[in-house]
Amino acid sequence: MSEIASMTVRSKKKYRWDRIGLVLGGMVLFSFGLAAWVAPEVGLDAQVLSHPQHNATVPGLATVTAIREAREPTVKSVKATEEVVLPCSCNKNVLKLAKNPYTEHRRAARNLPNSFFVKDKNEMNAGKRNGKLVEVSDARGYHISALSHSHAVLLPEVKELLEDLGNDFADLLEGTSSEGTRIRVTSLTRTVKQQNRLGRRNYNAIDQASTHSYGASFDIAFTDRPDNDADCSAPTRAIQQVLSQYQKEKRILVIPEKACMHVTLRP
Ligand SMILES: [Zn+2]
Repeated sequence: MSEIASMTVRSKKKYRWDRIGLVLGGMVLFSFGLAAWVAPEVGLDAQVLSHPQHNATVPGLATVTAIREAREPTVKSVKATEEVVLPCSCNKNVLKLAKNPYTEHRRAARNLPNSFFVKDKNEMNAGKRNGKLVEVSDARGYHISALSHSHAVLLPEVKELLEDLGNDFADLLEGTSSEGTRIRVTSLTRTVKQQNRLGRRNYNAIDQASTHSYGASFDIAFTDRPDNDADCSAPTRAIQQVLSQYQKEKRILVIPEKACMHVTLRP
């Protein structure tokens, strides 16, 4: 082998290693480049697919959107239960109000202009038809809780009383951190059947022969704050102030009970 020839072989050998190195390096660079190129594309696709407007235009994906929307309230309710807002009690242990004797409540209930004994559901429906009873739903300052032993109806003038009570209560809290707190009405008009069912469960003399069966009374058991930013002191002071003012004005009769405030309109 001549010297030139051996050099050529050596340089050929050297040249070949360089090429291998170059190819390997190139492959590594290429694979990185490929990864960098592919990854954002996948992310972008996923974003596009999850976009509701995009889904709406693709019939096959509409189902996916629907399923996600159906799941959403569950997620929200889980979040909502994370921050528990406890209600503020309205009962004889918390509010300081004079007790009007029950005989007075009964007399008042019977003497209200539209008052009649709401014996059963038929009587109640008849009362609704002739305007002696009106349906009551949530309004400013108060809301009706889920009712199991009464119906959300009252004599028209008792509904007006509740509306005034709600407005005056809301006025007192407006502009404070307790704004939006609502009185929780837990019982309204009861038929005899509902009264008896309650009687068996809870032997409370006040509610056995009840002014609730005349559409003349309602119970307030709590005030509900919108969030935990403010404590119960302001709502409790407000409901105390409004009830005591109405009682002094001889507009209402009150019985502070163990679990609620029983309120009857005076004629
Ligand atoms: Zn009551």
